[in-house]
Amino acid sequence: MRLKHTVYMDYQATTPVDAAVLAAMEASYRTEFGNPHAAEHALGWSAAAALERAATIVAEFCGASGDSLLWTSGATEANWLAILGVAAKARGRRILISAAEHKSVFAAAEAAVDRFGCELIVLPVDADACVAEARLGAHLDENVALVSIMAVNNEVGGVNAIEALSRVVKESGALFHVDAAQAPCARSIANLADHADLITLSSHKAYGPQGVGALVVAPDLQSELVPLMAGGGQQNGLRPGTTPVALCVGFAEAIRILSAQGEDERLRVGALRDRFVAGLAQRCGGVALVGAGSEGRHPGNACVRIEGVNGADLVSALQPHVAASTQSACNSGSMDPSPVLLAIGLSSAAARECVRFSLGRFTTHDQIDEAIERVRVIVEDRRAHDASRAARG
Ligand code: PMP
Repeated sequence: MRLKHTVYMDYQATTPVDAAVLAAMEASYRTEFGNPHAAEHALGWSAAAALERAATIVAEFCGASGDSLLWTSGATEANWLAILGVAAKARGRRILISAAEHKSVFAAAEAAVDRFGCELIVLPVDADACVAEARLGAHLDENVALVSIMAVNNEVGGVNAIEALSRVVKESGALFHVDAAQAPCARSIANLADHADLITLSSHKAYGPQGVGALVVAPDLQSELVPLMAGGGQQNGLRPGTTPVALCVGFAEAIRILSAQGEDERLRVGALRDRFVAGLAQRCGGVALVGAGSEGRHPGNACVRIEGVNGADLVSALQPHVAASTQSACNSGSMDPSPVLLAIGLSSAAARECVRFSLGRFTTHDQIDEAIERVRVIVEDRRAHDASRAARG
């Protein structure tokens, strides 16, 4: 995917919408425009039927049934519904999350502390941003209401051993929430519902439209949730508001395409990522993949540290030719390094030298080669500049 002059390497921030998804959405907007909650007429029924078909596709992708699926506006809302929805009934009890979770999980867990007196424990992660079973086990007892651990990390691409972690959580009786927003492009999640009680998904990380996501939670567990909002009684009252049919249809089409591409696409993207990292290392020197080795990570993730080069400066100098990101949060005028990079053991100085390049369906060999060359030119320039400044004293 190329927008005029930009090589897009920010697939983990959002993926371009697949053309087939757009076509499915356009058809849906044209023909299924009734309110899916209008129970009195045929256009309402056809919109509701479209939603039901879409829910089945998305839910089955992670091993659940269509009636387990609650549509949300994205993963952020699904994370809030999972965590605050459980916390509202589990007042005063404990919530465990990993130190590498997305900001929305941290924010929801902190809100559970403020609003419902829950106690929050943040589990340390290893250098690959994953939680070790033993560390999780050490914090579990009957007072833990909920454990929230992501399937795949959005910054360094680490893949948690969800099945093994789930066994440990289940023994304690706690509910297990998995933020799987980054998982569909990284791994098969066909059996995830066997291991997780609540699953967060996001359409725009999987070539679907922005503005729609889902929380998958088995019907018999839905009574454990308290809704975030009140209004109409849509979606069992757990997520009131008119469900956006065409967005859900697009999400389902994206998932259908992803299922059909299966492992082939992941292998192709993984090979491109390896070529990119190897090329950068060879042309620039002082380049290291941050986090797990290429085997145990999201195939499209190339979070790299380039020694002696500030990541934010590099991303800025690459404009408008290459789109990548640094995960830096701009705080009171100073650029704070990503908490996830610090949590995996990097110093602040090292974290500032990291850039996340993320690849996907439309990345080509030529784009990779162009990106490597553009990075090389900037890195050489920066290093030469720094060396001459050092020489001048
Ligand atoms: N969780 C993870 C792991 C993510 O990567 C993201 C997106 N960066 C989110 C949650 C939030 O997703 P959304 O934009 O759909 O709210």
